[in-house]
Amino acid sequence: MAHEHATDAEEEYLQTIFWLHEAGLPMTAANLARAMQLSAPTVHEMVGRLERDGYVRRDATKRLEFTDDGLEQARAIVRRHRLIERFLTDVLGIPWDEVHEEAERLEHAMSPVLEQRMLAAIGDAKTCPHGHPIEVGERLPGVPLADVEVGAKVRILRFENEAEDLLHYLKDSGVEPGREGSLAASDDDEVTIAFDSASSTLTRSVAETVSVVADPSPPPRIALPEQLVITKDRYGR
Ligand SMILES: [Zn+2]
Repeated sequence: MAHEHATDAEEEYLQTIFWLHEAGLPMTAANLARAMQLSAPTVHEMVGRLERDGYVRRDATKRLEFTDDGLEQARAIVRRHRLIERFLTDVLGIPWDEVHEEAERLEHAMSPVLEQRMLAAIGDAKTCPHGHPIEVGERLPGVPLADVEVGAKVRILRFENEAEDLLHYLKDSGVEPGREGSLAASDDDEVTIAFDSASSTLTRSVAETVSVVADPSPPPRIALPEQLVITKDRYGR
C-alpha cells in the first residue's frame, strides 16, 4: 500500500530514478547505484522499500518502472528542485553553480503554498538555471557537445550532470545554458567553443555531459550512466 508521502530518502531515490528515465537510460538498480555513488546492497535495500511503499515495480528483466503514484511523486520533487534553483538564482541572486546543493536541502521541506509563491516569483522562467524544464516532460532534444563537428553552430541547452564541482568548472570556463557559439576545435582530450568575444575549452569527458543544439547536428545519442552522476563529483576530467 502506498504511503501518503515519501520520506526524504525515498524522494532522493525517486528523483534520481526520474533523471535516468528523463535521460533515456535503463532504470536499473545498477544504474541507480552508479548515479548515486552508493553500493549495490544499499540501493537494493532502498529499491525494496520503494517497491513495498508502492512507488516502483520491477519487471521480469528487473528493470524499474514507476507506479502512477511513484511517477507523480518523482515529478513533484524534480519540479520543486528546479523551481528552487531558479528562485535562488533569479530572486536571491545566488550564482548558478552554487544552487544545486541548496535545492537538495530545501526541496523536501516545501509546502504547496510556498511552491506557488516561488512559481509566481520566477516570472517567465521555464527551466532551472542548468537548462532543465521545470514542468517536467518538456525536455528539448539535444546532443552531447563532445559529438559536435568543428565548424558547427552550437547553443548550450543544458548540463546533464549537476555535481557542484562540475558546475563550478563549467561556470569558470564560461559555458552557460542559452549561450551560442561555434565549435572551434575538438580532439581526443578537449573541446573548444568560440563565443562572440571569448572561447571556452572543456575536457572531452565534461563535454560529454553538456547537451547542445547543433547545426549541423550529429545523430542523437543517449549519454552513458557514468556521465549522469548527480550527487558526487565523479566525471573524470
Ligand atoms: Zn538544475
